[in-house]
Amino acid sequence: MKQLSGLTTIITGAGRGIGRAIAIALGNEGCNLVLISRTLSQLNETASMVNNNTIKIECIAADISKESDINSIHNEVVSKFGNVDILVNNAGVGYFAKTVADMDIQKYDEMFNVNMKGLFLMTKKFLPMMIKKNRGDIVNISSLAGRNAIEGGAVYAATKWAVIGFSKSLMLEVRKYNIRTITICPGSVNTTFTGTESDNLSIPQPSDIAKVVVEALLMPRNVMISEIDIRPTNPQK
Ligand code: NAP
Repeated sequence: MKQLSGLTTIITGAGRGIGRAIAIALGNEGCNLVLISRTLSQLNETASMVNNNTIKIECIAADISKESDINSIHNEVVSKFGNVDILVNNAGVGYFAKTVADMDIQKYDEMFNVNMKGLFLMTKKFLPMMIKKNRGDIVNISSLAGRNAIEGGAVYAATKWAVIGFSKSLMLEVRKYNIRTITICPGSVNTTFTGTESDNLSIPQPSDIAKVVVEALLMPRNVMISEIDIRPTNPQK
């Protein structure tokens, strides 16, 4: 029996990219999966890529920036699974502009509403179940943009700095309930996040990020890897 077998795991942004890779990897580890994004067809595609027919998979189309959608996710999880063990806050959007003066206000709102407020709402909603069980894991996908300055990406970077500040504080608040907060900070990953996937294999692939997440979750319960930076070893342009 695998260590993570049977653990109910919610993954936001599981329709493609990093979230999809995390779903496939955790499904292979035996986790039951709740897959979330706004596009049901992509979630169903992710579910079909999980190579484990012994687990339960639920796909829920929802916008994590809306509290009403989070309430629906919560109701669905309670009725179908009863509980949650692992929450992977991965969904995110990124828009870039030549300067801050060119940044659209709606795009500003969307980035903060998804990258930070959505992550907060999901955490707030599912934390009580973990506190009650005195156990849980929350994986927050931030970015190296949450540690560094990005020319043309001031707002995106601000959302990811916010995620790190939130996650560090959350970690201090909930470790006493045996809840681990694991913050992942990747640099460029080969997804369609900023356009099209490339054939650049010198940067991390989504499956590499998923491997790191699995390894962190597999650490003994008395060990929390609280923050992980992931860089390419030798990036080629
Ligand atoms: P991606 O391929 O664009 O996937 C993003 C996922 O989030 C999609 O499934 C998308 O589905 C979902 N999503 C977006 N808005 C949502 C909303 N309002 N409600 C629910 N789901 C939503 O991006 P990715 O590259 O895998 O990025 C995943 C995470 O890693 C993001 O937080 C990103 O900031 C972070 N990251 C990415 C990179 C990179 O280079 N790729 C580097 C560092 C950090 P729908 O649009 O269908 O809802």
